[in-house]
Parts: sequence; structure tokens; C-alpha cells
Amino acid sequence: MAPVEFTVTGGEGSPLDFVAALTPARSLVVITDPGGWAQVSQGLAVGTAAAAAVPTQVRVLRFAVLDLRHFPSAAALPSLADVPGDVVALHDTRSWDSAPVVASLRGLGRPVVLFTAVHAWVSGVDTASVVIGWSAPHVVLAAPTGPGETRVEDALWQFRELERRGRMTYTSLPAPPVVADRPVSVVVALPGATQGIAGALRPGAGYEVWVRVGDGPVLAEDLRLRAVLSMSGRPVVAETFMLPAEGPSPWVNFEVTTPYAAVPWTGELVVYHGVVPVHVQQVVLPVGAGEPRALPRLKLSRTFADLPPARAVSVLEFGERALVAAGDVPSWVSLAGPPLSLPAMSGLDPWYGKDFPAYCTDLAFLARQGAAAYARLFGGGEPAGGRHAASGDPGPAGLGPQVSGSGPAAALRHAARVTGRPAGVVVASVAAGPVRWPMIYDLPFTDGPHRLCASVGRFGPFGAGGEVPPHCPVHDHSGNVLCPFGFWGLSSVLEHPVGPLVSRVLPRAWPFEVAMAVDPGMDRGLTERHVTELMSQVPPESVTSAYLSPAELGRALADETMDVVHLHFREGFLEAEEIARWNREGVWPQPHWPVRKPLVVGTTPMVGLVRSFVEHGASAVVCPEEAVPQDMAGWVTGMLLARLAAGVGAGEALRQVRWEMLSRGNVMGLAYSLHGSADLRMR
Ligand SMILES: [Zn+2]
Repeated sequence: MAPVEFTVTGGEGSPLDFVAALTPARSLVVITDPGGWAQVSQGLAVGTAAAAAVPTQVRVLRFAVLDLRHFPSAAALPSLADVPGDVVALHDTRSWDSAPVVASLRGLGRPVVLFTAVHAWVSGVDTASVVIGWSAPHVVLAAPTGPGETRVEDALWQFRELERRGRMTYTSLPAPPVVADRPVSVVVALPGATQGIAGALRPGAGYEVWVRVGDGPVLAEDLRLRAVLSMSGRPVVAETFMLPAEGPSPWVNFEVTTPYAAVPWTGELVVYHGVVPVHVQQVVLPVGAGEPRALPRLKLSRTFADLPPARAVSVLEFGERALVAAGDVPSWVSLAGPPLSLPAMSGLDPWYGKDFPAYCTDLAFLARQGAAAYARLFGGGEPAGGRHAASGDPGPAGLGPQVSGSGPAAALRHAARVTGRPAGVVVASVAAGPVRWPMIYDLPFTDGPHRLCASVGRFGPFGAGGEVPPHCPVHDHSGNVLCPFGFWGLSSVLEHPVGPLVSRVLPRAWPFEVAMAVDPGMDRGLTERHVTELMSQVPPESVTSAYLSPAELGRALADETMDVVHLHFREGFLEAEEIARWNREGVWPQPHWPVRKPLVVGTTPMVGLVRSFVEHGASAVVCPEEAVPQDMAGWVTGMLLARLAAGVGAGEALRQVRWEMLSRGNVMGLAYSLHGSADLRMR
């Protein structure tokens, strides 16, 4: 066989991402990727074949895995006929010729991914093959132009040669990879029927609502999910079910009685994974006239194959009300109530701090409001009983079933104790509500004399400080007690996603880059101070900054050239309509930010902008929900970016920033929210 010639390109992503993107269209992938083989062969016992599921950016890859080095000859290989997998992963051997094994598997219609050494010759490649290697920071993709034999190093050599001559072209993964998710279907049937019905429903009559998650991308494993149906005017009903790794789930059956009024009857259908509401859709049942409809509302992952990690508590906001889940069947709470506001901004010293008495006053000011809000939302805290007693109008869907004594506070403390990490709270938003969740205070606190938990002093200005534990080191919180761990923003890791969670800004090694855009109308002195503060905390070479008008900003944010977009501007400087215009008029390429998905960090409230940025490719948005002093904004951003650059997840990074601000007597970290995944990392 003669050495083959190639067409070579550079790709962005991991080698296994490209395996997922290229199979089954390519029936042979020759690849050098020790890290990928380690993932694929995890759990493979010597001398056996195994099945493995490896999540990638594109889809879950299901491999049948065999290490040819374990066997003296092709004749000694175990059969792969019964080992499932949409591709076969083989590790090549030097002791015998594996080409006939590869050819026979391809002949059976099973694509082969052949892991091999960079300098090993592989015969039997052809135009249905692809050769994959790595030349930092790119994946090297080489498509043979004819049949023959090859080595991965030949492809790498050609790639580097083209790169040296400046003639290399780079291809992104097909991104955002177009993935069909499994559909969530809703069917209405007469009681006891075996088939659904179409058309209008009779008022005041009994029906069954059937729900299931359909077929689609293969999952890494079977999933235990919970379907929650909340029809207007009816209690919340819930059923758990298994979604198999392959194929649809069984139908989940809810018995309902239609209202007497002949109008479209609406409700919310939410699929939970643990307490996390991963899929939300509105259900409209046609009482009297019409056809049933289902309207998608929110998804926290692209597909059921890449669901977000577990959390301790979830809040699903629908404007003025929310479904809250803390381990039990979710229940509705009304979010209406007086707004939570920050204490006076005045009195900050040149280090953006306050002295101990002023800090305690600020903390108590916030705790009083946060505790009142907690009591209004969830009842007066422990013990059980009054969970809904003080919750006001629970909304048109009615009261959920009474939840036992636990409630969110107990769930958060329990999770922190059991895991040794701060508990996770996801506040997913179909429509943003008025509650400032980081300011919620879940210990009893009312007007009148109070005592200070030892953590107030220890983690406050001039306190001993030290690493912040996952829960308060002091156990006794009885009575009217002020403790920083009472605030959700300090005790827990919060995230406020408005769409699918993104876990990486860029999934490959690349220098950290921040693009700072400054409103030219800002006070120049403040801006200079801001930049100085920022540069003292992140490597100056990673930051570029420019004064930009809103129109210029669109062009500056067009390309995938940064990990963080830092917007330093006055409230109202940028409107969501402007972002829509960039998108509509071609200022932004389509799709926008498909691979490198920057985190947007703002220094003023970004009401209305959060959704626009996330819908147009940003991984997340961090901003204050209330106006904060602009002179401290550079300090806050610097602390946040330093942690992100060091590899800390966004949720934990923001929690640490709040504590660091507290150590100077500054409580304004509780004004900031992360609209995105708490697990978001730069790489
Ligand atoms: Zn405490």
C-alpha cells in the first residue's frame, strides 16, 4: 500500500468531540489521543470487551471497546456482536496486523475508532476515513484523498507545514451542534382509554393527561426523572419515571377534571431531575373548543443527555410566583412583596469598606428584610407546619401538597453538612421575579435586640478570616441571631439561569482574554480607577479596553475573540433592542459566539439585557441587580475575574467575592447575581 495524501484542516474542540461529529458518516477514524483513550477505556478489564458512554460537546458517544494489545492474535478476540455501541473503539497493537479486524467491523456497518501511536503505520485507510491528531491548541483533521496507508504524524507534519506557511484553514465543530432533543409529548385521553383523543374537552369532566419523554439522543445512563403537572386551579401533581438510555420513557398518567368554564385551560408541565427543573413547557387544554397545545418555556440543558448537576434547592420563577423544590414535590409560592433593598451606599472608606459597627448595621438591615421575605415565601422557618400559612396568594394553580418540616433552609444546611461543600441553589427563570435571592435570610431575625454569631466578627472587617467553610462553624443559631451564613448568597452557591447551562467558555487551552468596553460618558477619573483596580488583580496583558458607543460595541463584540466581556457603563446605556439590531442587521455573524461563549460582566443592573446576551451566545451574565457605587466596581470585577482565571467555577467565585467584600465590611456583594451555570469555567 502506498502512503495516502490528505486534505488537512485544524479544528477547535477536543478530539473526541470530532469523533462524535464525524461518525457514523466516516466509518474509520485513526486517532492519536491518549487522554481520549483513557476516557474510553475506563473500566475495561484486561482480556475483555466492554461498553462505554463518553459525553462530548456534540453528543454522548457509546463505544464498544476492545484493547487489541491484550490479545495474541485476531483469532483470540472476544466477539463484539453483543457489545452495544454506535462506534467500536479499538486500541491498535504492534504484535499483529489489525487491518482485517478493522475491515470486517466496517463491513458489518460498525464504524471503527482506531487509537494508535503517532508514528504507527495504519493500512486500509480510504476516503471514508479520517485521521485525527493534536497540535496545540488545535485538533488536526486529515481526510485521505484515496486509499492507502498512513501515520498520524504525517497528518501532523502537513498541518504544521501549512501553518508555517500561513495557509492553514480552521474549521469549528459543527456548532452550536444541532442536536435534536427528545420531545416531551402530552396526550389527553378518556379515563381508562388506550388511545388519546383530539379536539375539545368537555367542561367539568374527568380525563387523563399522559406525558412522556420520547426517543432521541442516546444517554450515558438511564435517568430517574419526575414529571410535575400544575394545571390552573388544581393541586400540583407529580410522578417519577425512568427515562431509558435508549428509547422513549413509559407514559406517565395524571388524572384531571376539567374546569366548568369552557375556556382554554392552561398549566405548567415541568420535568425535574432531582430538584432541578430541566424542561418546562406550558400546556393548554382546549375545554369547550380548540386543540391541545404545548408551548416550550425553558430548558436548562440542550438535551436530556447533558443535564446539569444536582442541586439542593430549586426555584422556578414565573414572574410573580414560583415553583420551589427542596427534595419533595415542588410547591407554589407567591413572590409578591416589598422589594429587598441595599443599605445606604455612603460611608465607604477608600478601600470600599466600612468599620465594624457600620458593617453590623448594614448586615442587620439586610437580615431584617431577608428574614421577612423568607417567612413570607416559606413560612416562619422551622419547625414544620406553617410553610404556606404566610405565603399569601399562592397563584392560580393553588396550594401544593403540604411539605413536611424541611423547607429550603433545612435542605441547604443538610446538603452542606452531608457534602462538605456549600449547597447549590438554582433559580431558573421563565420570567424574572422581584425577589433578590442572594439577600434571602433563612435564620429567624426580627426587629428588637439581637445577638451576633461569632462568624460576624470572624469574617468581618479586621476579623480572623480564613477559608470560608461550607456552613457556619457555630452551631447555636437560636433566638434573634445575626450570622452571615443566614444569607443565601453567602451560605450557598447560587445561579440564576435564563436558558441552557453552559459549563465552559471555551473547551480547550487558550490564553485568558478579557475585552473591556467603557461607556465614553462615564466619569474618566472613576474609569481610570476602575481599570487600575482591575489590572491589579488579573494579568494586564489579558485585558484590552476601549471607549465605545453602543453602535461601536456591536462590532467590538462580533467575533469570538474573548472569554469575558466586561461592560463598564451607566444604566440604560445599552438597550436590548440594540442587541437585537446587531443580530438582525448582520453586525453579528450567525450563529453568534457558537464555540467561544464569553461571560458578560456588567457594573450596573442589566435588566432586559441578560436574556439578549444569553440568547445570542453568551455563556452567562454577572451583574448587580441594584445600582452599586461605581468606584468599587473595578475591585469587584477584578476579584471575580482573578478567581475565574484560576479555574474556580462562576458560582463559587461569586460566593467567594461576596465573602471577600464582607471581610472589608462591605455587604454589596449580595446585590450581584450570576445569570448562568454555577459550574461555568473558563476552560
Ligand atoms: Zn453563624
